[in-house]
Amino acid sequence: MSSTETIHVDGVWRSAASGARREVLDPADATTLAVVAEGGVDDTDAAVAAAARAFDGGAGVWPRTPVAERAALLRRVADLLQRDREEIALVESRDTGKTLEEGRVDVDDVTAAFRYFADLVVNEGGGRVVDAGSDEVHSVVVHEPVGVCALITPWNYPLLQASWKIAPALAAGNTFVIKPSEVTPLSTVHLVRLLAEAGLPDGVANLVTGAGDPVGARLAEHPDVDLVSFTGGLASGVKVARAAAPTVKKVALELGGKNPNVVFADACATDEGFDTAVDQALNAAFIHSGQVCSAGARLIIEESVRERFVAELARRAEKIRLGRGTEKGVECGPLVSAQQLAKVEAYVASALAEGAVLRCGGRRPEPSDVRPEGGYFYSPTVLDLCHGAMTVVREETFGPILTVETFHTEDEAVALANDTEYGLAGAVWTADAGRARRVAGRMRHGTVWINDYHPYLPQAEWGGFGRSGTGRELGPAGLAEYREAKHVYQNLAPKPVRWFAG
Ligand code: NAD
Repeated sequence: MSSTETIHVDGVWRSAASGARREVLDPADATTLAVVAEGGVDDTDAAVAAAARAFDGGAGVWPRTPVAERAALLRRVADLLQRDREEIALVESRDTGKTLEEGRVDVDDVTAAFRYFADLVVNEGGGRVVDAGSDEVHSVVVHEPVGVCALITPWNYPLLQASWKIAPALAAGNTFVIKPSEVTPLSTVHLVRLLAEAGLPDGVANLVTGAGDPVGARLAEHPDVDLVSFTGGLASGVKVARAAAPTVKKVALELGGKNPNVVFADACATDEGFDTAVDQALNAAFIHSGQVCSAGARLIIEESVRERFVAELARRAEKIRLGRGTEKGVECGPLVSAQQLAKVEAYVASALAEGAVLRCGGRRPEPSDVRPEGGYFYSPTVLDLCHGAMTVVREETFGPILTVETFHTEDEAVALANDTEYGLAGAVWTADAGRARRVAGRMRHGTVWINDYHPYLPQAEWGGFGRSGTGRELGPAGLAEYREAKHVYQNLAPKPVRWFAG
């Protein structure tokens, strides 16, 4: 495969029908990392047609493949991911800017997701027999694949987001077309190559590299696509839902977040507790330079510990080592693009204009402080004395910006945590077990961590309340997204009903 043959249709790797190409940049120095095919509507239509043939109304090879064989394929993919762990981690690090170690963690998490869905689909058994209230009826609810799935993914966790969709889609017997972010398509190309190597029949997995519009937009509106699963920003998610509406396809949206990290003073009562809460607040806000949908970008802290906490947080944030993600000792890579860097700078400027107090960062690092030159680096930034009317508190910045708000009572803490149009994730830190459960119970977010931040499990659902999206990934619900329930009612002793007398 030469580098521009990144479109995969019906088992064949090829360039864009138009011959168009796109340069993929290394965000650490803005040099060209790869050149990929820039797909268009023709490529998208060809990929959907291939997926539709491979599904063929349920009569295709893959939907009819026994569940045990589908699960075995997913396990082979998991093994291949581990075989290529270093190579994929390196690609992901170079493409997204994240550290190599984060890239390795992503490969391991993705491996676990493939194994989880393999186990789930095998262990759950067949359909569910329903008591129809008569021994002359046999009634059963079975699950069938939805059909052709369009999978659209963002740039921050390309391999992970692709896998959270591909593994359950395949486990359930669907065929698909995936469109990775045009900014970071490389690990998805590798993953699709592994699917073929694992033995997936041609046409089941198709890939079109290209821009959101036209490729993603065409997938969302396409009459032969039965389901679109989208992960990305709110504005694009709304466009996808609109484009999908006329054909009433199933739509799952995993969108942004503006996630509260709520810290009560009692969590900081001991030196160890204080150190842990500060350390995890750093982790929540700044891992992957804050380009995480569940980033704990809003620190909501009890007023009595604010000054001590924020001072220590800022001291440690200033020491975070920036650089190319593949360099040893680097703790945060660059932002993914010049556009993302400009967006982050604008958010900090607006925050300062609205009265926030800068405690650290707030600028690009000095060229002498970061290598290589020319990358999209931004210093971890802590903004104190923030409040809910500020743009930086309301909107997802998707950068290394942590805002600080304070509270005096438990009710205030909950009100602040829920004062967002999003509802993806959040955390509560307290030494009081009762309070932890009370606050977690009242938080309107899809995931709530108690005395922790960021861990997730493949067996537990992931997704958002409010404008963080619809539907769930991972867990049993993450498989259910890719299925239709069908009720098969069999009358064992048919006779006339005589509803009509004539
Ligand atoms: P984005 O919305 O710009 O792009 C996401 C994908 O949608 C890309 O592949 C893009 O090409 C495509 N796209 C763009 N316009 C489209 C259109 N009109 N029709 C169809 N597809 C279109 O998002 P991004 O900047 O790549 O990613 C960052 C966003 O993703 C953040 O908001 C982040 O919170 C979110 N995200 C959410 C989760 C989650 O699990 N909820 C996970 C990761 C990222």
